[in-house]
Amino acid sequence: MKKDSHKKFDVLVLGAGIIGTSTAWHLQQRGKKTVLLDRDQPGLGASYGNAGLIERSSVVPYSFPRRLSAIVHYAGNRLPSMHYDWLYLPKIAPWLYQFWRQSSPENLRLATQAMLPLIEHSVGEHDMMIKAAGLQHLRREQGWIEIFRDSCAFAAAKAELADLEPYQLSYDVLDAQALKEREPALKASLAGAIHWLDPHTITAPGRLVQGYCQHFVAQGGTFIQGNALTLTRQERGLWQIQAQDGSHIEAEHAVIALGWESAALLQEIAKISVPLAVKRGYHMHYVQEEGQSLNHPLCDSAAGFVLAPMEQGLRLTTGIEFASPLAPANEVQLHRCESVVRQYYALSKRLDEKIWLGRRPCLPDMRPVIGAIPGISGLWGNFGHAHHGLTLGPVSARLLSEMMTGEKPLTAPAPFAVDRFMVSVRETLKG
Ligand SMILES: Cc1cc2nc3c(=O)[nH]c(=O)nc-3n(C[C@H](O)[C@H](O)[C@H](O)COP(=O)(O)OP(=O)(O)OC[C@H]3O[C@@H](n4cnc5c(N)ncnc54)[C@H](O)[C@@H]3O)c2cc1C
Repeated sequence: MKKDSHKKFDVLVLGAGIIGTSTAWHLQQRGKKTVLLDRDQPGLGASYGNAGLIERSSVVPYSFPRRLSAIVHYAGNRLPSMHYDWLYLPKIAPWLYQFWRQSSPENLRLATQAMLPLIEHSVGEHDMMIKAAGLQHLRREQGWIEIFRDSCAFAAAKAELADLEPYQLSYDVLDAQALKEREPALKASLAGAIHWLDPHTITAPGRLVQGYCQHFVAQGGTFIQGNALTLTRQERGLWQIQAQDGSHIEAEHAVIALGWESAALLQEIAKISVPLAVKRGYHMHYVQEEGQSLNHPLCDSAAGFVLAPMEQGLRLTTGIEFASPLAPANEVQLHRCESVVRQYYALSKRLDEKIWLGRRPCLPDMRPVIGAIPGISGLWGNFGHAHHGLTLGPVSARLLSEMMTGEKPLTAPAPFAVDRFMVSVRETLKG
């Protein structure tokens, strides 16, 4: 990657995950002289190890369960889909309460409505970047399959399809036999499946981000390594940062795209507190035996995991874990998922020495921050994409770039404004 000694840029993008890299790419395409900074190489954070789904069919965000029976079910802490550290519970409880409130039917409807234009553009925006960067070999267009082990859950899922009619999604409903034909490696003990056809999937999400970054650099962009927490505002109004090689970088605008670590910098620079929590998740790769491989990613919704054929092997990604973001990895959830998988698939031996731990950056109202940081000119945010950061990276980047360059935004940006978390500050100021 290219290195700069002392240079002035139009925009400094902080964080080279899928969100920051796509943002830098879009700004560079719009003629902005852009520098992208990360402490590591690009695409090694949450964007490295996800399930690779460009989730065009997830039109309703993942909300907090509202039925008491479901809450009791999760509270037992014995499920493969969700695990929590008892000691962390008092710390995360206020956030969970906000998440629960934001998951009321009316709030969920608002979140769905706000997110829909982004979801609708997600595949097309990736497609444009994938083609520009020559990364077609990392993308598959056959969708993914949601499997159901028990017939009641399958019947309920089929009944819920009627609610999705307004979104005009494409899918095939598969009985046990049809599923077996689509995925011959599965034992025929499953109730059925829904094959979601609109999504695309990525076979190496980390390499996708690296490929986007390489294309950004090839188009004249600059990638540097350094610590975003060294960001300062100069008297002349420019943002300044010290790169790892000791050089100083200046820019008129700075974009915070640090995934789950965005809140700390926002607090430090703008004194704005956002309720950004982490839903941890894991992955492990397994040998894909000859004649045993899967044709599509499979999602077992009840157990909350995805089993996806990837470049590195068969990747099992787990659901949600609530634990301190920096606490050591805990294999309990992976073990639970493995034993569920083995009910219907001959999972082979593990390939990785260590379990991979990723951190989803989550806001309680189920939508990211995309836009200007109020009160500080030239500071912008693009973070909090939760379960769908891979899906939303390019489209959020396009929206933010349109806002930064004064173009007509592809959707109304108001639902993504950071000031939705600043009501109490505004009320205090008014009072
Ligand atoms: C198990 C799992 C499965 C998932 N599956 C999917 C899926 O199938 N589809 C989907 O759409 N999404 C999925 N996600 C969610 C998705 O991975 C995330 O939403 C997305 O990767 C977030 O991207 P990001 O760029 O915001 O964060 P990150 O990828 O974490 O990038 C943030 C970057 O900021 C850098 N950084 C942080 N602090 C500093 C600092 N002080 N100085 C310099 N650099 C810094 C980090 O090094 C990192 O590179 C999954 C997540 C997990 C954990």
